[in-house]
Amino acid sequence: MIDRGVSIAFEPLVGRLQTLLEQAGASPFTAEVIARNCAGCERDGASSHGVFRLHGYLDSLRSGTVDGAAEPVLERVGPSFLRVDAANGFAQPALRHAQPVVDGMLAETGIAVVAIKDSHHFSALWPDLEPFAVAGFVGLTMVVGGTRVVRPRGAAEPVFGTNPIAFATPVRGASPIVFDLATSSMSHGDLQLARNASREVPPGTGTDRDGRDTTDPGEILAARGLLPFGGHKGAALSFMVEVLAAGLTGGAFSYEAELEQGAARTRRTGQLLVLIDPDRGGGGFAARIEQLVAFLRESGMTRLPADHRYRNRAQAERDGIPMTDAIAEIFADASLSSDA
Ligand code: NDP
Repeated sequence: MIDRGVSIAFEPLVGRLQTLLEQAGASPFTAEVIARNCAGCERDGASSHGVFRLHGYLDSLRSGTVDGAAEPVLERVGPSFLRVDAANGFAQPALRHAQPVVDGMLAETGIAVVAIKDSHHFSALWPDLEPFAVAGFVGLTMVVGGTRVVRPRGAAEPVFGTNPIAFATPVRGASPIVFDLATSSMSHGDLQLARNASREVPPGTGTDRDGRDTTDPGEILAARGLLPFGGHKGAALSFMVEVLAAGLTGGAFSYEAELEQGAARTRRTGQLLVLIDPDRGGGGFAARIEQLVAFLRESGMTRLPADHRYRNRAQAERDGIPMTDAIAEIFADASLSSDA
């Protein structure tokens, strides 16, 4: 029985999301992968990529922008190098489809480079990486964010997406440490939330149409004037994401994606994953990271990346996922179930 009053359990939420995604045209496989991703973000408190995103998924499927029944094509082009053509589907099911080959490459060579192209990804990246770190692998991934909303200093127009990067490492005796961040000063979603709440953003977040610094999120959105985080250093990382997640994979660069697809809710781009078995030719990696992490915590770094999510997850597993308007809507709104 679903308690719609204060909280909801994980599996019923997955089930409802899966049903709605299937009704919008996703295959059962794709619907389950995306539903688990979406519900997992909600459970971990990463709500900007949780149920809030459902309308984006449904619109993308119904409009045909994304093929919810895409059949990814795998090509192992080297002992440790897999190319995946997502065939205009979501990146996450393409990765799941490739999982047996990735597992095989890691078992045989200790390394897997996975280059996904012609894919759509507008979720958090940690759900893609965390399972590999739980299994003992170090992982790095990046996605071309699509829409050009980042204008580094000196650029006359926006040139990059918000281009996120995530990294995960096993830690002996603890959950993996995973960081997952946009290379822009602020994520585009957070900027929209600030605009909706009429809240100023910190100086250095972005610029207006004339390239002048502003703390008005509405002006930054209108100008697509987000700055990279860390000035030229963030711009360099964002450039790297374009090179690796689009140039190397064969997916579209941010500027090409926009030209191709006009006002589409998602963009066909690409994702790169690099996975490494850290104990090849050595051993004790996770134990060494445990020592490093202990040193950092003793130094006063009491919050490390993913701590916050794990705390939210533990609480949700105990008490259920807190009910929000967005969750209540997907159980209450019959129009979501229509094909209209
Ligand atoms: P945040 O700045 O909120 O967090 C970045 C990372 O830093 C997280 O791993 C977070 O861990 C950690 N962190 C945050 N605060 C602290 C702190 N005080 N001390 C230690 N660690 C901390 O993320 P962003 O706003 O940059 O990005 C949000 C999400 O948006 C990401 O999941 C990203 O993948 C996603 N995104 C996706 C895009 C796409 O195209 N698919 C495009 C752009 C962004 P924790 O999780 O535990 O808080």
